[in-house]
Amino acid sequence: MPIHLLDDQVIAHIAAGEVIERPASVVKELTENALDAGARNVHVSTEGAGKRSIRVSDDGSGIASNEVMLAFTRHATSKLQRSEDLTAIHTLGFRGEALASIASVSRVTLLTRQITETTGARLRIDGGQIITHEQVGTPAGTILTIEHLFFNTPARLKFLKQDATEKRHIAQVVTQYALAYPSVRFTLEQDGREVFRTPGSGLLADVLVQTHGLDTFKHMVEIDLRHKGIDVYGYVSTPTLSRKDRGRLSVFVNGRAVQDSRLSYALTQAYRGMLPDGRSPIAALSIALPVEEVDVNVHPAKAEVRFRDPSLVFEAIQRAVRTALLGLDHRTQPPPPSGPAAYTGTDALMYPTNRHAALGSANSSSRSRPVWEPAPDPSEIPVGMGTPQRPRTLPVLRIIGQISATYIIAEGPAGMYLIDQHAAHTAVLHDEIVAMLSNSETLPTQPCQPNNIEVTQRQQRLLDQHAESLRRLGYDVEAFGPRSVTLRSMPQVTVGQDPSALINALLLMLERCGDTPCEDALLLFTARQAAVKAGQIMEADAMQALVSKLERCPAPLHTPDGQPTLLHMSGDEIAREFRRSDG
Ligand code: ADP
Ligand code: MG
Repeated sequence: MPIHLLDDQVIAHIAAGEVIERPASVVKELTENALDAGARNVHVSTEGAGKRSIRVSDDGSGIASNEVMLAFTRHATSKLQRSEDLTAIHTLGFRGEALASIASVSRVTLLTRQITETTGARLRIDGGQIITHEQVGTPAGTILTIEHLFFNTPARLKFLKQDATEKRHIAQVVTQYALAYPSVRFTLEQDGREVFRTPGSGLLADVLVQTHGLDTFKHMVEIDLRHKGIDVYGYVSTPTLSRKDRGRLSVFVNGRAVQDSRLSYALTQAYRGMLPDGRSPIAALSIALPVEEVDVNVHPAKAEVRFRDPSLVFEAIQRAVRTALLGLDHRTQPPPPSGPAAYTGTDALMYPTNRHAALGSANSSSRSRPVWEPAPDPSEIPVGMGTPQRPRTLPVLRIIGQISATYIIAEGPAGMYLIDQHAAHTAVLHDEIVAMLSNSETLPTQPCQPNNIEVTQRQQRLLDQHAESLRRLGYDVEAFGPRSVTLRSMPQVTVGQDPSALINALLLMLERCGDTPCEDALLLFTARQAAVKAGQIMEADAMQALVSKLERCPAPLHTPDGQPTLLHMSGDEIAREFRRSDG
């Protein structure tokens, strides 16, 4: 055959082959476009493992009606202008190849409208040939339907795997992007069946529960570390959970899902000595670093990236994961006290605990920024020394409200929770006080308003006998004449309590303890005194703060003396109670 130039159709098929390997590649490119368009909702549905049809709809920017044809032209993009821009890519797409490639090997219908336009556009393309282009009414955003993929490239069609395999690849892609963008609501539907749906709450934990299931999520810890300008955030499995393949290692670099065996290796290495050989952890890990530190233009499907300093990235990953894993303490929970079974199923939500974690970090998981965006204020995070997050002991709970000024109602992935505000706060404060005392000799104190009360001889003797424990917990009781005492200072946590009432309650407690050592009882007493009372109306912020702390309390289900802090009713139980057949 003499040398000749290939015609456009053949060139298009060759190029398409690089980008669009299988139905999941189409899903990936369309999902990336939806995310680049700023969508808050992305709906993916496929029929026949994507071979019959793939539809991705979004509520993003839409395409201007005079640009719809351009969108399908090779090397036409709205995301890049000059060559220099390649050094600082902020979008998932930039090559202007995907739509052209997809359109050359399938039948495409585009429906799109920009919010500023009154009518939208509908474009039909068949194997790269434009069939119709008309003005139509359509919601703002974009709906792309891809039918009969590879109908004109039989070789490619033949190499597709069984439906089950292709469906798995599709689910994998959507899962990856759902994990990378927790504030976007994703739905995946295959052959009319909903595979999963994420709430778009901005919390990676919520996405993991939907995509991986609560049972897996229970064995994961949050990691959050900034190391030499590199943010590592996400969840990794504790050594109690592993897999024989690397199918559940999701790594995102600046919001882009990447398959990089060196990154997976760095991650797996962090489990040295904790996992049997050949086992792999489960992880959803976002790495955020300045865009100029990473080259994303190395792979046609943009699945690989190159780092300016790879060893720094590996170091950051290993340090983040290792810190979280070494902080784990697999002490088991005290068994729940026997008694009436007031709550059901909740014990299944217990996770390994971490009693050594720093205080005050309990709420940092409620970040709402996309996990891959660098933190807005780096000064908030000590460089090179991230605080390991305490593991969750309860899933993320969304507060619905308060009833009887006593209970907080919340919703979680596993149903409804009714939280006793006083008991929950007592459990949280008890844990905080224990942690404070492990770091310092005494609890912080505050001076009291003038007060003095009469005491009996026995009470005076008890005060003397337990003086050391009282001092450690921040109660400075001084004799004030022969039969009366004054409380000079009290623990800072009890701020706002009336000192006379406090010391009266204290004396009652000491009398109950008698001669036995009372430091544990005193600790619990202090937590109870400081805790919000039943009957107290709580602002939404206060409820949120309390519940966020409870979610990471090492023993969230009971006060130390066994009083339940919450009742749980699963979605199934609720449905059963209402005799719903579809529950
Ligand atoms: P790239 O994403 O690399 O720019 P594509 O071929 O995937 O190339 O898309 C071409 C162009 O079409 C994009 O640059 C964008 O302007 C537009 N586009 C594609 N999909 C969407 C969408 N879902 N919403 C808004 N614009 C889109
Ligand atoms: Mg694109």
